[in-house]
Amino acid sequence: MTPRAGTTTEIKGMTLEELEAFARGLGEPGYRGRQIAHWAYQRSVPSFAEMSDLPAALRPRLEAVAHLTSVVPVTDVRADNGETIKYLFRLADGATVETVFMRYEDGRRSVCISTQVGCGMGCTFCATGLAGLTRNLTAGEIVDQVVQVHRLTGERMTNVVFMGMGEPLANYTATLKAVRLLNAPYGLGIGMRHLTVSTVGLVPQILNLADEKLQLTLAVSLHAPTDQLRSELVPINRRWPIAELLGACRAYATTTGRRISFEYVLMEGVNDRPELGVKLGELLAERPAGGADAPRSRREEGSLWHVNLIPWNPVYGLQYRRPGMQRVEAFAAPLRRQGISTTVRVERGVEIDAACGQLRRTHAVGIRVTPSST
Ligand code: SAH
Ligand code: SF4
Repeated sequence: MTPRAGTTTEIKGMTLEELEAFARGLGEPGYRGRQIAHWAYQRSVPSFAEMSDLPAALRPRLEAVAHLTSVVPVTDVRADNGETIKYLFRLADGATVETVFMRYEDGRRSVCISTQVGCGMGCTFCATGLAGLTRNLTAGEIVDQVVQVHRLTGERMTNVVFMGMGEPLANYTATLKAVRLLNAPYGLGIGMRHLTVSTVGLVPQILNLADEKLQLTLAVSLHAPTDQLRSELVPINRRWPIAELLGACRAYATTTGRRISFEYVLMEGVNDRPELGVKLGELLAERPAGGADAPRSRREEGSLWHVNLIPWNPVYGLQYRRPGMQRVEAFAAPLRRQGISTTVRVERGVEIDAACGQLRRTHAVGIRVTPSST
């Protein structure tokens, strides 16, 4: 990062329209904006000097008035024979965030990205939540995680999930801008349906997002079927309890035509008891209350939702336990009986502290992270 970084224009994070306006502001034709976008997002060059189709005289002028923010890899750990790579990236101010790359047999290449340094939501089972919120990432810092993973692996990404550190909808404007840049043909060109934003359940922002009418996949972290238990695990539930959250989810699903994916992290003896599985099934199969657009059959309502069960990944210093597959299946059974589409996600890279926020913690306090295979 150049010392002028704070005082000159940041290119990464600018839309095509903004880049075209920026080029015209320098007395250049607007199409220079498209050329710069190509180099910044698709080719990931570190300096304007390398933008070889720009006029030679323009390149030093750009160096003087603008900069290209890059997130810089500090360390990486690998698992699953190198099919999962977790990166710790350093930002311009020295803060660090985690990004995970996953390669799948069916050809998908997925990146899990962060939207904040830390998180202010304080979920009791989450490594990121333990440290609190330091700051929001800029749209450029969010997008550049994908750009840099592309550069480091040489692979084109097919999917991006906003499930790394931070609460994406608490950093709404930058997250939305990043979504548009990841989707744009001049940006990363990733299909909207292949972008997934995960939220702890910020109701006003879910309603705003519904109004954007994007074909984005929305994942909502539920983790409990009752307000009492959810408020213990996910403090923000005290502000927006389950009924309000489900109302917003219903609005999102009906406005966009997209199914909501509920995430439910299972912790043994805490929220994985079979009777809670029954309760969750009843909750998600419930008919919407009255109104002109009711009644809806149980099965139709069930089809608005999908449930993703995730056995808890151990976090250094936390006392929860990860349930075995038998308990997980026993929890899933009543959901399936209710006709709710349910999958179990055994997260990859558990041995490299896949739970987001952990690599940063272990790095910060100097605990040795042993890559299982490289
Ligand atoms: N803040 C957003 C997105 C980041 S967390 C959210 O909470 O949805 C992404 C997902 O990882 C969430 O569902 C979260 O509950 C889950 N998660 C957090 N810590 C975990 C852990 N130790 N093991 C498994 N999943 C975890
Ligand atoms: Fe934040 Fe999500 Fe972790 Fe909760 S689970 S503390 S919202 S990152």
